[in-house]
Amino acid sequence: MRWGAGSISGDMTRTAVLALLARRGPLSRAQIAELLGMSPATITQSTKRLLAEGLLVQQAPRPSVAGRPSIPLALVPESAHAVGIQVAHEHVTGVISQLDAEVVHSFRRDFDPAAPRALATLTALIRAEIDELERRGLPLSGVGVAVPGIVEPETGTLRMSVRLGWTGLPLAARLRETLGVPVFVDNDISAVTAAERLYGPGADEADFLLAAIGQGIGLGMVLDGAPYRGAAGAAGEFGHMPVQTDGPPCACGNRGCLESSVSTEALLRDARAAGIVSGEADLDDLDAAARDGDRAAVELLEAAGTLLGRALAGVINLLGPTSVVVIGEITVLWHHLDGPLRRVLLEHLLPAVRETRIEVRPWDDQLIAVSAARVVLGAPLAAHRQKG
Ligand SMILES: [Zn+2]
Repeated sequence: MRWGAGSISGDMTRTAVLALLARRGPLSRAQIAELLGMSPATITQSTKRLLAEGLLVQQAPRPSVAGRPSIPLALVPESAHAVGIQVAHEHVTGVISQLDAEVVHSFRRDFDPAAPRALATLTALIRAEIDELERRGLPLSGVGVAVPGIVEPETGTLRMSVRLGWTGLPLAARLRETLGVPVFVDNDISAVTAAERLYGPGADEADFLLAAIGQGIGLGMVLDGAPYRGAAGAAGEFGHMPVQTDGPPCACGNRGCLESSVSTEALLRDARAAGIVSGEADLDDLDAAARDGDRAAVELLEAAGTLLGRALAGVINLLGPTSVVVIGEITVLWHHLDGPLRRVLLEHLLPAVRETRIEVRPWDDQLIAVSAARVVLGAPLAAHRQKG
């Protein structure tokens, strides 16, 4: 595993050890050193601190072929907890996650970011989770908050969120001040990408992309081993890639952005306008119409798959990742999008990147909240490092 500059953690060895043990289960110091490509001395020093803090425990020695018995080290799941929060434009999802990333409590509440006391409401929801931990006598490492929009990684300030309608909000600083605990605020897709880099199947890949497609469209990037955020966290606005002249108006104020044609909102809008589904319909209804062979539904989704494929081909040709992970509500419709998308990729990808894997994950509506908690657990220093 390579860890590039600009990583989310101030102590990369610590983060790497915790994430590896969460992924792989108990391992000896020698195995950890080998898998992380670090020196045994570095691992011995790092695990010594983690043992002293009670985050790790030594298991019974196992006989080893080399002669000396090996002592597996394991995470102590209940030794650390984080609250993970996803703020979306209609709801807030929250989880309490323990060190091994197991969720021990979760909630989902309707939320109106435009309400006059929206921030106070959000703070109260987080406070309730912290109280829940206190009631159970469990230690809190910090709170991770994931929001749609551009977040400065150094400060946790939300520069702009089209979805929430919030601009220039020092969210991490405000929450930290009111709650009195470490708070880490990040863009939602960046949080999922960072968690994927630490705990997911992508942990061993130095170059991968994460395309999140739902009501909005974002792109998480890990390039050369490190999350790529752009100047002040502004990278990854895949949804606002201009793909059509005179296309539909976009929430950003422009026209013809990718998001204005292939977000789940845009697809439902077009399906309603074409009389494919009724006003109350959701993605499952659109899926059913296409499965039943409704010609207009099939054509709509074929056009969406083609457009998405062309945009993705551009990004893959540009960045050369080994894989692209696709997440989000749109995966319900993937069955219809996959064919046209792959045809376009085959047509437009340069030979050097034709082997890029496209991996589609079933959508999990707790994923973003869980990822926010995981970032805090894996990189506890991330919360302390955000100053604002
Ligand atoms: Zn736009």
